[in-house]
Amino acid sequence: MAAVEIDHAVCIVSGMCASVAPDIFEVADDNSEVIVLQPNLPDELVDDANNAAVCCPVEAITVHPG
Ligand code: SF4
Repeated sequence: MAAVEIDHAVCIVSGMCASVAPDIFEVADDNSEVIVLQPNLPDELVDDANNAAVCCPVEAITVHPG
């Protein structure tokens, strides 16, 4: 199964990933971090994760193919 992770040391909590792929990423209520809702990605969400990774302004998202 594919997987996705965020480098929280790099993430600036822009929220782009949560906009592009709301099934996978969510901004915490206090805006302190982005939560990965689906760290183990079902196949149907891999494209969304890759799109979010491309959109991330600081390249904090890594998608590991299954
Ligand atoms: S798009 Fe990148 S910088 Fe923005 S919240 Fe997501 S992981 Fe963080």
